[in-house]
Amino acid sequence: MEVYIGEIKDKKGGEIKFHLVEDWSDLGLDGQSLGCIGPVTLDGRVTCTGEIFLVKGTVTTKVTAACSRCLGSVELHLTAQVDERFRKASHPHEQDPVREQEIDENDWGNEDIQEFRGLTIHLDDVVTENLVVSLPIKPLCQEDCRGLCPLCGHDLNDGDCDCTIDTIDPRMSKLQQLLDSND
Ligand SMILES: [Zn+2]
Ligand SMILES: [Zn+2]
Repeated sequence: MEVYIGEIKDKKGGEIKFHLVEDWSDLGLDGQSLGCIGPVTLDGRVTCTGEIFLVKGTVTTKVTAACSRCLGSVELHLTAQVDERFRKASHPHEQDPVREQEIDENDWGNEDIQEFRGLTIHLDDVVTENLVVSLPIKPLCQEDCRGLCPLCGHDLNDGDCDCTIDTIDPRMSKLQQLLDSND
């Protein structure tokens, strides 16, 4: 995902609206797929404020995740806000890594501003980051998912299994044995 800012590169207050749609179903994220099962849509605008290009927008997509209780697959509609600042790399042809480090340590580097080269701002990373943050920590296939039987692994949403789950605290079972033997 990228947006071309050539038309506003020197135009303070210039704005470009964009509507980007991409298929990310094969996108890997640190080796772990985001699990997109629908297109990723980014609606937003980029505004030139002088040296800084503000990118604001809303990203939506549909992903699959595993239910945290029954491990069944869950479809999740994700919506995330993108609000990032970019500036043109100050040394477009600089390849020296030491110099890069110096740039990162100056005043600009301390602020959360990303650099871009040329006239195109690449948005894949910020879009991915914001989508990942919007993922629920414990997705559920349904609010009252009953999960799996801890003994046989049966999906309790499909009905009860034949296991009898002893509700007695294991630390109390010794006591229970004593009580039983006294009968
Ligand atoms: Zn579930
Ligand atoms: Zn069971």
